Amino acid sequence: MLQLDLVIHNSTGLHARPARVFVDLAKQYQSAIRIRYGEKQANAKSLISVLTLGVPSGERVQIDVSGDDEQTAAAAIEAAVRDGLGEGPTTNGHTPGAPAVTDQHPEAPAPPVHHGAPAAGAIMHGTPGAPGIAVGPVFPFERAHVEVRERFTGVEQENARLQSALDAARNQLTSLHAQVAQRADASEAEIFQVHQEILADPALMDTVRAAIADGRSAAEAWHDATTGHAAELAELSDALLAERAADIRDVGARVLRLLTGAVEAAPTLPDEPVIIIANDLTPSETVALDPQRVLGFCTAVGGPNAHTAILARALGLPAVVSAGPGVLQIAAGTQVILDGSAGTLTVGPDESVIARARAAQQQQRELRAAAAQSAGEPAITADGHRVEIVANIGSLKGAKDAVAGGAEGVGLFRTEFLFLERKTAPTEDEQFAVYRDVAQAFGSMPVIVRTLDIGGDKEVPYLDLPHEDNPFLGERGVRLCLTHPNLFRDQLRAIMRAASFGKLRIMFPMIADIGELRAARAIVEEIRAALGAPAVEIGIMVEVPSAALMADVLAHEADFFSIGTNDLTQYTLAMDRMHPTLAAKADGLHPAVLRLIKRTVDGAHAAGKWVGVCGELGSDAQAVPILIGLGVDELSVSVPAIPAVKAQVRTVTLAECQARAEYALACATAGQVREGKIDR
Ligand code: PEP
Ligand code: MG
Repeated sequence: MLQLDLVIHNSTGLHARPARVFVDLAKQYQSAIRIRYGEKQANAKSLISVLTLGVPSGERVQIDVSGDDEQTAAAAIEAAVRDGLGEGPTTNGHTPGAPAVTDQHPEAPAPPVHHGAPAAGAIMHGTPGAPGIAVGPVFPFERAHVEVRERFTGVEQENARLQSALDAARNQLTSLHAQVAQRADASEAEIFQVHQEILADPALMDTVRAAIADGRSAAEAWHDATTGHAAELAELSDALLAERAADIRDVGARVLRLLTGAVEAAPTLPDEPVIIIANDLTPSETVALDPQRVLGFCTAVGGPNAHTAILARALGLPAVVSAGPGVLQIAAGTQVILDGSAGTLTVGPDESVIARARAAQQQQRELRAAAAQSAGEPAITADGHRVEIVANIGSLKGAKDAVAGGAEGVGLFRTEFLFLERKTAPTEDEQFAVYRDVAQAFGSMPVIVRTLDIGGDKEVPYLDLPHEDNPFLGERGVRLCLTHPNLFRDQLRAIMRAASFGKLRIMFPMIADIGELRAARAIVEEIRAALGAPAVEIGIMVEVPSAALMADVLAHEADFFSIGTNDLTQYTLAMDRMHPTLAAKADGLHPAVLRLIKRTVDGAHAAGKWVGVCGELGSDAQAVPILIGLGVDELSVSVPAIPAVKAQVRTVTLAECQARAEYALACATAGQVREGKIDR
């Protein structure tokens, strides 16, 4: 065994990002690695356990490494700690560039403070969680308290009890995963896989088993371990990690109910539909909300990127999150208006305000119904310009929903979802079956299959990818495919074999340079020739600024472009698209992004090629006319957005869109584009 004695110089200590970097590094080695701080010690491969140590800046930790690769593991850990665990090397004992020591996120707005019950007519501000307006009485959500009365009956018995509760929880999560995949899509269902990972967290299990060995019942041991870990995570200054506390509480409560025989936590709701108010809701509680009885919900804490908000959006449930503790003071039965797009809750509004909200709600409903009725018709502007409206999908179910929902094809098939939910890569035959079924579902309509886009935030554990300090700037998308030729070739063979069952096109993600396009294209051509398959169109995603700037050059060698505005915005503004505070500012309507879109369209059209948009911007009602005005030929949007986008296209003229685009290009900020006001 090797022992290291190191000082953590990071200004926030071993928390947040440095902790993640540390744990990811430890996981790469087979050796057992433990980290000790004072009296406390942790398994270095468990994030929640390392976070729970709470090592502050300037403190000394001891690290024990034992196993076959202990030499290399210890050397790598020592170097990583010395290099600042992803925050840069230390000088004079401090990490340059790191924020000052603070427990608060510097940019995070202070939560609103309310004293006593809010007055009638008060508008409480939170963060938009899921769009839609709801009007109704408040129902305070009280989580059934689970009493832990179980007494210790012996180590073996308690361990067996724990094991069977964990097995049952795993089964429940598998079926919840299937249920949500059915109601929403594979990507939202992944949340319940994260929960399965928490169930298997080595440190959590160590803590629970140690407590059982000390004479605590399985229920007591489990309850203490999960509530303790969740409370520590909730305190963290890294908002993304803090949002994961809700996931630990959720898994904690699930297993505890199984251990104590308590019934499922769903409260009994009144017959009249209500608006739920809660401190926070767990993802399982959100999925369990009966859509017949719940109009929407508002939580005091939480965030737009937490799993609860993601699920609300997928399930079409209006939601406001992070509205502050004041919302918990609202008396049961009080009428409120919840506006999930504005992120507001109006308490006890008078009749005229309620009437206005109901009218807005009614209008939204009518527009949705009218749009749904004509979803099968093409989207043609009032002056006769046709825009193709196609779907973003991630599964065969998504493909079937898209056909039923009026999609004119698929503009983006995110194939990585076939790879994410498993322990090994799907075989060529497995992939072929999915691509063939999707191609057949669309018949003669085009389906653009995007080749694997993993790396960045999409991790695939079985590929054993090396740790990267900046994964969004690392080996992701086509770069990763070119360095993993077997993975890439299997996928391309599967696509080429499926191509004769419909109208498939291939698209490469994250192209930054023409060399990558040439290399990827050459592999496709080689496989096509070997299989004797028909030629397919080959396009690229324009989501790296260099590709937009070089569009005129790339257009000679790509058959089409599809602009990934999610990544193009992130890379243009240098703002992480997942960042809890920056993500809201990373607006694709920023004139810098719009200028890159224009450059892409001009480059493509000059070479006779077409351009689509497949990022979220394509379904943003303020962006749709601007994108059309910039010359975008196709919009690829999420399946539920198809009818509304088509309906909107029919209400505008191309000339009006062009004027709006010209105006937007002349603005200085995204805010000005959205307000329609040039002010410089
Ligand atoms: C994009 O970046 O805009 C895009 C559509 O790709 P993804 O969101 O899958 O990265
Ligand atoms: Mg992208």
